[in-house]
Amino acid sequence: MGTGSSGSAARRSPRTGPTVEVLRVGHRPGRDPRLSTHVALVARAFGARRLVLHPPDPGVERTVRQVAERWGGRFEVVGAPSWTAVVRAARGPVVHLTMYGLPFERYVPRLRRASEVLLVVGGAKVPARLYGEATYNLAVGDQPHSEVAAVAVALRELLGPVPASAFDGARLRIRPRARGKSVVAREEAR
Ligand code: SAM
Repeated sequence: MGTGSSGSAARRSPRTGPTVEVLRVGHRPGRDPRLSTHVALVARAFGARRLVLHPPDPGVERTVRQVAERWGGRFEVVGAPSWTAVVRAARGPVVHLTMYGLPFERYVPRLRRASEVLLVVGGAKVPARLYGEATYNLAVGDQPHSEVAAVAVALRELLGPVPASAFDGARLRIRPRARGKSVVAREEAR
């Protein structure tokens, strides 16, 4: 993982907090590409450095690469044949997000002080071993919802408000409008 809160190009400067990576375990190629792509897009937009996808899915990696080419930053999706290896290589707390865990908000102050955090989300079925491998099993509320929502809320809590500004190297950026759409290309955006 990265070098701490000075952060990557994907994290825009006003935000502080740990460098965060997201591991999505239990992706089902052929069934889950849309959901896993949404996990990746939320991770990118809300300030994570990358998504590690288990098992790998080159289609999701390609889709997210195309988004990053247009909208900037260095966020990437990398495939992992073994989720255990990713968890064991983590250089900071491993936070498994699960409805069965302890309240996430209680752990936010200590997680914000870490230099690196690995957020782990599951899918339809979570390997039982993950509960033992994680540093913390934490719940965003105690109701079942979604890996996309869990990642969004956790990143918002760890990294603060999501700034409305383009990522470094963006070819496109949005001009906020009360109505309609305004997207400008890089040359015009400066
Ligand atoms: N029974 C699962 C669980 O352990 O949370 C719910 C499965 S849900 C379809 C898929 C993923 O969404 C879970 O593996 C978990 O990462 C995330 N998730 C769902 N509800 C959550 C909650 N209340 N708090 C944290 N994560 C949640």
